[in-house]
Amino acid sequence: MMNFFYESKNIGVVGYGKTGYSTVRALEKFGANIFLFDDKIIDSPYYQSLENFDWQKLDLLVVSPGIHLWWDIHPAVKHARRFFIPIINDLDIFQSVTNGKVIAITGTNGKSTTTALIHHIFQNKYKTEIGGNFGNPVLDLRKNSDFYVLELSSYQLESCNLLGFDTAILLNITPDHLTRHGGMEGYISTKQKIFANTKENSTAIIGIDDEYCRHILDFISHPKIIKISGKEVPENGIGWHENNLVDNRENQFRIVGRNIPRLDGDHNRQNIAAAYAASVSNGINAKIFTESLVTFSGLEHRQELVKSINGALYVNDSKATNADSVEQALKRFENIIWILGGRPKEDGIESLSSYFSKIKYAFLIGEAAEKWHEFLSKNHVENEIVFTLENAVKKSYRIAQNKDVVLLSPACASFDQFQSFEDRGEKFRKFVEELPC
Ligand code: ADP
Repeated sequence: MMNFFYESKNIGVVGYGKTGYSTVRALEKFGANIFLFDDKIIDSPYYQSLENFDWQKLDLLVVSPGIHLWWDIHPAVKHARRFFIPIINDLDIFQSVTNGKVIAITGTNGKSTTTALIHHIFQNKYKTEIGGNFGNPVLDLRKNSDFYVLELSSYQLESCNLLGFDTAILLNITPDHLTRHGGMEGYISTKQKIFANTKENSTAIIGIDDEYCRHILDFISHPKIIKISGKEVPENGIGWHENNLVDNRENQFRIVGRNIPRLDGDHNRQNIAAAYAASVSNGINAKIFTESLVTFSGLEHRQELVKSINGALYVNDSKATNADSVEQALKRFENIIWILGGRPKEDGIESLSSYFSKIKYAFLIGEAAEKWHEFLSKNHVENEIVFTLENAVKKSYRIAQNKDVVLLSPACASFDQFQSFEDRGEKFRKFVEELPC
């Protein structure tokens, strides 16, 4: 399929956020007839009301990641289905017009870090673009790159049809976004779409550190599968033995680097193993890989050290919106003054109770505060509801001592009090910067 496939076609676009905007710009270039369904932009020349629209004339309907397909279904989707109009997303359009190789990354946690790391490494050898759920939408990426490193959320995978990625990575699965995907089964089947429509020379990279991924491993059929682990050395796979990354493909047990500098925290071992697997299966050798790893500095809002004041560390882990990602931070630090709360997700914080002995004090903010106050108190964690992040930072400062870690790792979405997790992390940084040294 080429760009001209879309020329003069009648294409509906549902949602005019970042992805919808980028889709409309691309379709304009391709010469499509565009019909835009989003009540927030009735001034647009493409705007189309859902009522009185002749759905039969559509050739395709393109949906944004925020549009629900299986639960609380968007009316445009229902109409399109009635007339058997194919429903696709921007990634399908991208795949149909792009020649470069695609490395697609998904998982519950670690997607952005792994995507950024792979992009960082591949840039040392190839023309490489990064995008998808991280950074720019795929249709905004520069043409003629050798590789496209794409972070894919479960929402993007849900509406994608073509798939068939050259390298597909599934890092891990723990419960998240369950309502949208109709429970755990729906969430898992969406994530495993990353391995669908395999091409002959493609590679599937799969984390084996959780039971859901191990289950998927049992029944995917793929020409080339590389198992990865952040905890052990898998048989015929890539993993860790003590502080060494080990390439154990064909059970050869090759140490990639002794004491290679790594991103801190055990969770990053899984991300590094995935990045190594993607590198070696695409012509990047261990030497380039280890050299590039040294210069990767990690991402903001993921266990990011903001400042040390009077010997206490202030750590911004605003991106930790579910229990599993918070667990990585609780595992890593001791003497924790924990700032948590916001809009709670389905998984709660019950699974974290084995780390509660490390918590010196907890400050609760946002909508989850009251419920979790009760739970923490029952579990003998001293805590207080302080409502806002600013209060939490100030109160943490008053009690923080040498070697304590003031950790914003909220286990919640941010939307009750902030625009996004970035906004929450930036505010945390600002409040910390304002503290007297
Ligand atoms: P995602 O894009 O999947 O949300 P990020 O790389 O942005 O992942 O990290 C989100 C949160 O998850 C951060 O708190 C980070 O410390 C934690 N995290 C990163 N990698 C992993 C991993 N492999 N397993 C579990 N948690 C992780």
